[in-house]
Amino acid sequence: RPPTTDTSEEKPAAPTKELPVYHSGTSKPRVVVLGSGWGAMSFLKSLPRDAAESIDLTLISPRNYFLYTPLLPAVATGTVEERSIVEPVRRVLKKKGKYFEAICNDIDPVERSLVACFPPEAGLDEACFKVPYDMLVLAVGSSNNTFGIKGVEDHCFFFRSITNANELRRRVSECFERAALPQSTSEERKKLLSFVVVGGGPTGVEVAAELHDMVRDDLVKVYPDLIKDVRIRVIELMDHVLSTYDRAISDYTANEFSRGAIELVLNSRVAGVRKGEVDVINTTTNTTEVIPFGACVWSTGVAMHPLIKKLQGKLPGGTQTHFRSIVTDEYLRVIGSEGTIFSIGDAATIAQGKALAKAKDLFWEADKDGNGVLSLGELRDMLRAHSREYSHFAEHARFLDGKYGASRWGGMVASAVSRGKKPVDAVVGELTEDTALEEDQFRDLLEKIDRGLRALPATAQVAKQQGEFLAALLGKGAVRQGSQIPADAKPFKYSHKGSLAYVGSDKAVMDVPTVGPIFGWGAGLMWKGFETYSQISFRNIFLVSLDWIRTKIFGRDISR
Ligand code: FAD
Ligand code: MG
Ligand code: MG
Ligand code: MG
Ligand code: MG
Repeated sequence: RPPTTDTSEEKPAAPTKELPVYHSGTSKPRVVVLGSGWGAMSFLKSLPRDAAESIDLTLISPRNYFLYTPLLPAVATGTVEERSIVEPVRRVLKKKGKYFEAICNDIDPVERSLVACFPPEAGLDEACFKVPYDMLVLAVGSSNNTFGIKGVEDHCFFFRSITNANELRRRVSECFERAALPQSTSEERKKLLSFVVVGGGPTGVEVAAELHDMVRDDLVKVYPDLIKDVRIRVIELMDHVLSTYDRAISDYTANEFSRGAIELVLNSRVAGVRKGEVDVINTTTNTTEVIPFGACVWSTGVAMHPLIKKLQGKLPGGTQTHFRSIVTDEYLRVIGSEGTIFSIGDAATIAQGKALAKAKDLFWEADKDGNGVLSLGELRDMLRAHSREYSHFAEHARFLDGKYGASRWGGMVASAVSRGKKPVDAVVGELTEDTALEEDQFRDLLEKIDRGLRALPATAQVAKQQGEFLAALLGKGAVRQGSQIPADAKPFKYSHKGSLAYVGSDKAVMDVPTVGPIFGWGAGLMWKGFETYSQISFRNIFLVSLDWIRTKIFGRDISR
């Protein structure tokens, strides 16, 4: 299999005039899906077996396999084998539709067609064709965010594809072998064996943890003399890692890392990267440190996919202005596409209404007794009544219920739910039973509540649920009715099942709603179980299970 990488560079659109046009020869509604990642595959899997009877489905993606990203850090160190976490697209697709290995590089939302090209990376000729659609499902994901920092592109490893994981694995092996040569000086050894991870989110943390496990469990046996020179560092902008998790989890992780000798370089911003060196500025002391490295992994979040950016400019002016994603309505229809384009996963974000714009109306509506000020009860009732429209109201209403609610049980449940949610506490927590908010105080409060308005995170969990939602919507006849949303369809609602991350030494951290933070060995076992069981097919579940056992018994194979 030739190495197919995610394409992040923008390519000029091929001339569309004389391109062959793809026709399946049926008159069924044409559904075209772009991507073979979490969003697209979950959509595909959720379609009924006999989907081909009512729609004409075409899947286009340069990557002819699905990749189970959560275990990619484990692949980089050989804990899990790469073949265990990929599944061929054609095997998921079965008889539901047709697949073309191609990159879409242009979409014409007016003509309702797109141009796709066979990726020439394999050394063959590029071959482009045109595909008309009635409904387009955009699930192309995101691209790497370098924040425009110099040298990142050239000297760091990104971490999203199998190719990336293999490159890193090869590099780490190289560094150890090079350091073991007789002429290596102590300084050279220290540089080669310095591994830097930029970004303290779940991916960065997991890469550092897996690297550390590999050193502690396996490399120590084959390079006993080199181990004292190994350093693993995580550079993070904030003053703690895993900042989207409960604070107790960040603290636990920091503690685990310090015991395992993974260093956290906090409050630090990367200013530039050169070959084997990264400039790090400490934002509290404003001092610069140069950290030498053998390998540097860049994992600082996601940026807009070039195709999405291109489409953004073609949709009616003013409807698409988001800096990172294409904006959809709550049925996941791209705004400005007249309901013909749907977008899911990292590529998309759902438009959310800010409440502040309606502050006046909301205030006077809330003031039931008409005395010109809002009591705590009036505020809570209003927040609850509007939490469908402004979903970020819900947690605040629940919090007030929990603190001052009439029902003891309701209150206990609510305070369990909002446990650890400090932002909520900071906004409505200071209100008391005899609060009387005037209109401008209410405005200030709304502004604070709006600030907590978070788009859904760029996670597999979100992409998966959106794919399932879209398949169900289609089942209700969304395409047959000319992309009209069927009357009985409910808007998409995300259900957060919790976040988890592996922190090394068989331990993990979990942040589960209503339960709260869990960490340690138990969580480690649950993490392993979850990541195994969640594989896309039984074959993958089997292979991943075998990998865990193999690694425990025989260790990792670190040769290239
Ligand atoms: P992707 O899964 O990225 O899929 C995009 C697809 O589009 C790919 O198949 C790509 O080849 C294709 N494509 C790209 N360009 C084009 C084009 N021009 N035309 C056609 N096709 C195109 N999330 C979690 O919830 N839990 C985790 O533990 C977790 N761990 C992660 C670990 C790592 C290392 C990484 C990188 C991510 C992790 N994530 C995790 C995030 C998760 O992988 C993403 O949020 C998810 O993949 C988004 O799904 P998607 O379908 O939008 O995009
Ligand atoms: Mg996808
Ligand atoms: Mg994970
Ligand atoms: Mg999204
Ligand atoms: Mg009042």
